[in-house]
Amino acid sequence: MKAKGVQVISIVPGSLAEEAGIQPGDHILTINGEPVLDQLSYQFLVGERDETEVTFQNPQGQRSTVLIENAGDGLGLDLAQDEVKVCKQNCVFCFVHQMPKGFRKSLYLKDEDIRLSFLYGHFSTLSSSDDAELDRIIRERLSPLHVSVHATDPEMRVKLVGNPREGNILRKIDRLLEGGIHIHTQVVLVPGLNDGWVWEKTVKELWERRSFQTSGPWAGKGGVSPYPACLWASRRTVKAWPRFPMWILPSPRPG
Ligand code: SF4
Repeated sequence: MKAKGVQVISIVPGSLAEEAGIQPGDHILTINGEPVLDQLSYQFLVGERDETEVTFQNPQGQRSTVLIENAGDGLGLDLAQDEVKVCKQNCVFCFVHQMPKGFRKSLYLKDEDIRLSFLYGHFSTLSSSDDAELDRIIRERLSPLHVSVHATDPEMRVKLVGNPREGNILRKIDRLLEGGIHIHTQVVLVPGLNDGWVWEKTVKELWERRSFQTSGPWAGKGGVSPYPACLWASRRTVKAWPRFPMWILPSPRPG
């Protein structure tokens, strides 16, 4: 049976993991009964309490559970790199789609991963985040997150992101806000699509949600800020513009 969990790549000599009998090639399945989904999940779970129950599985499929004391600073093991999730969108302005050919492969990766959003500030449209992942974000307090909204109007958002399943971004945003997650938002403004009334509606509906902010530097001032708005050529117009322009518009600041 294929093990879930995350594979151990190396063990620090003399570490708690070595004492517990964990070896490279094993998979860490659960910590304190919670599934280990990736490196971030491991770090969250292992730091929760000093006495840590770890269930792991060796390459032969044999499972073991050990109770490790003083594990709050880590077990002394390295886990396999996480696979980056990719987006399920087909945005009209997709900057990856518009990349000239011939650059390094990583520049063509349409990454959309809430872990990168939390760790490095990458923006995510949340297209790869189902309800289980939204729960995980709240449970592990992966805050703040950076979310590409583009439009709160469902019909227009579908047109912009090219995915009929991803019109209702406010449902996901509201669920995260109610779970205590701070969200930084951005809008890519496409002339003739999400400017005008769509832009006004988007700003209004995001602005209304500022009261969710309860702590941090924006406390009481508005935590969901539509910034920065970038004006890109859409895919339809880029054919006519060999080098498409981009303007950064001033961000509306909470007062
Ligand atoms: S979310 Fe949109 S812009 Fe970003 S990579 Fe995916 S298709 Fe391109």
